[in-house]
Amino acid sequence: AAPGVRGLQPYQPGKPMAELEREYGLRDVIKLASNENPLGPSPKALAAAEAALKDLHWYPDGNGFELKTALAAHHRVDPACITLGNGSNDCLDLIARTFLGPGREALFAQHAFAIYAIAAMSAGAKPVAAPALAIDSSMPYGHDLDALVERIGPNTAVVFVANPNNPTGTWLQKDELERFLAAVPPKVIVVLDEAYIEYALEAEGYPDATQWLAQMPNLIVTRTFSKAYGLAGLRIGYSVSSAAVADLLNRVRHPFNANSLAQVAACAALGDEAHIAAAVELNREEKARVADACAGLGLPTLPSAGNFLCVQVGAKAMEVNEGLLRRGVIVRPIGGYRMPEYLRISIGLPHENDRCLHVLRELGEHGL
Ligand code: PMP
Repeated sequence: AAPGVRGLQPYQPGKPMAELEREYGLRDVIKLASNENPLGPSPKALAAAEAALKDLHWYPDGNGFELKTALAAHHRVDPACITLGNGSNDCLDLIARTFLGPGREALFAQHAFAIYAIAAMSAGAKPVAAPALAIDSSMPYGHDLDALVERIGPNTAVVFVANPNNPTGTWLQKDELERFLAAVPPKVIVVLDEAYIEYALEAEGYPDATQWLAQMPNLIVTRTFSKAYGLAGLRIGYSVSSAAVADLLNRVRHPFNANSLAQVAACAALGDEAHIAAAVELNREEKARVADACAGLGLPTLPSAGNFLCVQVGAKAMEVNEGLLRRGVIVRPIGGYRMPEYLRISIGLPHENDRCLHVLRELGEHGL
């Protein structure tokens, strides 16, 4: 293998439902593990994808004309500022391959989204984690922006910031982000990963980062259709940046990285604002209800602006996870992020959340 490859730890996705059903002989497994939209895709997106099936013998539009035009209108930028990705992970990887490499460093907060380190190391760069905010702060385990700025050194080429962050759910306010962006030297690329922004925009003081693009040529905002838009299986995400940065990304991008079904479905999904509003509303109500119920079970949760909760289940988190799996509930252990006492639980439909809470209660009362 190339240098550094054996040092990588593969990204661990949530366990697939079919695997668990077969492994434990279960039926009716529910998955609250990967922060998908429990309402599914917009019916408009489904119809658009179905209509495009007959054209599968054609390559997709390699430049994503229709989708980029729609996204450019949505963000009030020029289409030349948009770069499409095979999911926003692809965008993050593309950024790493474009701006990182041996001798360069990628900086991110401890407990930030796991892909930043993987993308940096795959590109031959050094991952550097700055300490997170203290557990007793108002954003426990959240990004400490001052600590990030302090760690910027001569080799720092890219800083990744997730807002809101996964797995913690913590978020950043407009003022602190503005101060942070002003403090980052212009030669350093700042990536604002907004995979969960649709759930967070309602929070007061939450910024829409694309507003800063005009002043910050080194800013890249990444977004996805996998979460609120309900299209995780199609793999489509994008970045918004200066046209100059997009031009560099486009030189490294694989041709046809955004498939044809994804492009048409994303266009249709973007136009279905009612579907997003319904998903956001369901998440708001259910997240509050699940957090309250967890508190009632003696399981504290971190503040979350996403569609998931980071639940402190204690030293036996892996056993609790196993107990949930045996009863057909897939959640996400996050020991890999060095938060071994926590499980991340996506917010599902009310009956799915009820079932997860019921099993957590049972495990608490009757043991594992
Ligand atoms: N960023 C964050 C913070 C995420 O949580 C995820 C998904 N887990 C992604 C990016 C990537 O999602 P996708 O590739 O499906 O767009």
